[in-house]
Amino acid sequence: MTETNRYTEIDNAIKAAAADGRNELARNLFGLCDDIGTRFSGTEGDRRASAFIRDTFKKYGLSHIHQETFPFTAWRRGSGAQLRLVDPRACVLPAYAMPYGAATGDKGLTARWVDIGTGSADEVEEKKPLLPGAFALTDGSSGPRKDIQRLCVAAGAVGVLHGNPAPGMQFKTGSVDDGQESPIAAVSISAETMALLRRTAEGCLHLVVDCYCEPSETCNVVGEHCGSEDPDTFVIMGGHYDSHDISPGAYDNATGVTLLMEVARLLEPFRDQLKRSLRFVAFGAEEMGLLGSHYHARKNAEVLRTTRFMLNCDTPCLGRPHGLGFHKCAAAESYVQTLSSQMGETVLFANRQHTSSDHYPFQRKGVITAGVAGKAGESSGGRYYHTAADTPDKLIIQELSDTAAFIARALLRVVNDDHWPVLQHDAK
Ligand SMILES: [Zn+2]
Repeated sequence: MTETNRYTEIDNAIKAAAADGRNELARNLFGLCDDIGTRFSGTEGDRRASAFIRDTFKKYGLSHIHQETFPFTAWRRGSGAQLRLVDPRACVLPAYAMPYGAATGDKGLTARWVDIGTGSADEVEEKKPLLPGAFALTDGSSGPRKDIQRLCVAAGAVGVLHGNPAPGMQFKTGSVDDGQESPIAAVSISAETMALLRRTAEGCLHLVVDCYCEPSETCNVVGEHCGSEDPDTFVIMGGHYDSHDISPGAYDNATGVTLLMEVARLLEPFRDQLKRSLRFVAFGAEEMGLLGSHYHARKNAEVLRTTRFMLNCDTPCLGRPHGLGFHKCAAAESYVQTLSSQMGETVLFANRQHTSSDHYPFQRKGVITAGVAGKAGESSGGRYYHTAADTPDKLIIQELSDTAAFIARALLRVVNDDHWPVLQHDAK
């Protein structure tokens, strides 16, 4: 069925405004990545970033702007990690302490290492007799690092060496628990160091990690284009603004929060034509365990009850054709076809489940959620995810700008659709 495009004029105006505003978008992206830099939760960079987003929301005409402050346990790197091979020969091995990994004390730990391969439950089970008192070595390819860390804690390991599978002396960071300290140490090592240890097969390592946790606070930044007919029904666009402390997190996730600001800007001239409310939420502390989105979902239960859709922008796909990746909602496919027909362009549909980004707290409360899926695009940021090399030079401004125009046009329709289908999550 071909739908007529009731929004031809607005579509064209949004595309033109996106093309004209590429410098503005680039200024926002570079403002986050270069002027502010790392946006690690509970630091000065975090506070400056949330203030920058709040001010930009104001500039783009959002209303009900506020910072939703919440307490959390901050992790501080201290002087970091020192790792040495002590047997069968002595050498220094570069390593990075990972957020929520435990400190070792000044004397450090001396222990054997045990290779647990990809870190799957089966591999950990197989090595269980060897793990008590040892370091576990893994390339982490079996799944979430937090799951691997927890398996190693349960098996009695004293620390985990999380190897980066990609060569190039890169350290991949990432928190190893959700909002709290792991009972044991966690360090990131490069693919080259992991290969050296695997070649060496057995021996002894000495590890000192100096880091600590302390009570802190951070926030979500919230703003809205209020609906003109039914302001109490919502569509939410979200994305986290925090990054890890070793990089400005350009792809993860300055891209997402830049899209948030740009979509707010692109829709400002059409505020009066939005029938329902479009809420923008820049989440804090995603990297520490989805802390901001859990907080928002908990504190806004009333709003979530009348939220028809939540779009999460975390490391979005930036290529064409654009698409929406739903989470456990096969029934959304026909709506995406309708959208495709209304927008006069291919909109890709995907349906997969994962729980490691800010859509999840909303999904758990029954809201239909999706991420920005589709083709990967030419921007190469994804390769450097969670490393010091996640910098904005890997991103193509035009791709970000085109993606913002796509999202603005898609959300305009979702907000205004009087025939929004009753979507439900797939049965388990
Ligand atoms: Zn992210």
